[in-house]
Amino acid sequence: MSGPPRLIAREARARPAADGASRRRPLLEPCDTARSGGQLPRLLAGPPAHGGAETFEQHLARLGHLPRRCPEDIVEMVHQAGLRGRGGSGFPVGRKMAAVADRGGDPLVVVNAAESEPASMKDRLLLRLRPQLLLDGAAVAAAATGAGQAVIYLHSGDDVLASALETALLERTSTPFDDPTFRVAYGPPKFVAGESSAIVSFLEGGLAKPRHAHRSSTSGVDGRPTLIQNAETAAHLALIGRGGPDWFRQAGTSRWPGSVLVTLTGAVASPGQVLELSGPRPTSDLLTDAGRLDRPPQAVLLGGYGGAWVEGERAWDVPIYPDMLADRHLPFGCGLLAVLPHGHCGIAETARLLTYLADESAQQCGACMFGLPRLAETMQRLAAGQASRAELRRFTRRSDSIVGRGACGHPDGAVAMAASALDTFAGDVALHLTGRPCPPHARRGLFPIPSHCPTWR
Ligand code: SF4
Repeated sequence: MSGPPRLIAREARARPAADGASRRRPLLEPCDTARSGGQLPRLLAGPPAHGGAETFEQHLARLGHLPRRCPEDIVEMVHQAGLRGRGGSGFPVGRKMAAVADRGGDPLVVVNAAESEPASMKDRLLLRLRPQLLLDGAAVAAAATGAGQAVIYLHSGDDVLASALETALLERTSTPFDDPTFRVAYGPPKFVAGESSAIVSFLEGGLAKPRHAHRSSTSGVDGRPTLIQNAETAAHLALIGRGGPDWFRQAGTSRWPGSVLVTLTGAVASPGQVLELSGPRPTSDLLTDAGRLDRPPQAVLLGGYGGAWVEGERAWDVPIYPDMLADRHLPFGCGLLAVLPHGHCGIAETARLLTYLADESAQQCGACMFGLPRLAETMQRLAAGQASRAELRRFTRRSDSIVGRGACGHPDGAVAMAASALDTFAGDVALHLTGRPCPPHARRGLFPIPSHCPTWR
């Protein structure tokens, strides 16, 4: 799956060859939430998207230099800001920073810009348009923890992103805020290769596969305390470093301060569009304003391919923000809203996604490598109107036996998504069990799946 890590110094020009996995060109148009009554965008403020990456000169002219601060002040500032990780876990960033800083030794900072969710575009957007925000964020994290090195980790195969990053590094000749030594590492374009313990393994020269019981903040790459933050989190750090905690808290909620990025995909006007929300907004607002829908869709998949299906009428009034969704036991995850239109088979779409997730297993935990393909098979049979009630009962038992048995959360997410499909599309399930599947045109794939995935597109 992968060889030793390819660490490319900031001066290097070499880039990995495109392998086709990420050749699709997402629509990267930030939405100005101010148009619909929200506060001005933060991460997505600046030059329009068609101009490409903001240069270092433009970045400094717009935002100014990062002020110098001592490590303790930075950690305290991030605590006060209440920044939570934007990679899906929502862990308080200040606590992670403090854990790495307190550990001493030779800390390392990693910005995880490997956006594994195929339909999520927010980190790609930041890397392509605002790469200097990511690098500033890495510099803030390095100053807070005392790290002399920062690695920017991304999937191989996307020349546009690689080029934006390498150009940004070359432009960054000197700042008053001392930069760490930057390195770029290109991991394999696999779903679980973006998991934090998989990144640690890769940077140590191993395969980009998750490990059990991993705590990178105390013992990460080669035993070094390692702070791993995703790209959006790093970009927020760049702005907190300038605006401070009070400014940061002007957006978001008291439990989830700061703005969040959301990607719309599926049956919307511009699949792949990224929105920046400066506070909770009902799904109906997002889907009517940006998605150009005039009524609730059949269903929405929230949080990513390991997220949860929600029936469209129910989702319509749900406020989109991580804490608001958590109150309703719904995932925010990577911030994906994938819209399934009426007349499209949710069971078939679920079968596609489940097949993809099964293919993306790192093949090292039995429950995941053997269990997910069996679940995907049953879901495919159900979509085709071939599954029996007994098979569906086995599906549920097998699902129960998979949860919690992997080294990472990959199978748990897949199982949860599949279970939510059986609830959300219960009417279709009943019909399919009587041998009456949806017509072939309703079973066509809708949500994006990387081209390296061989089956069931
Ligand atoms: S649970 Fe699955 S994806 Fe995660 S490490 Fe094990 S085999 Fe790999």
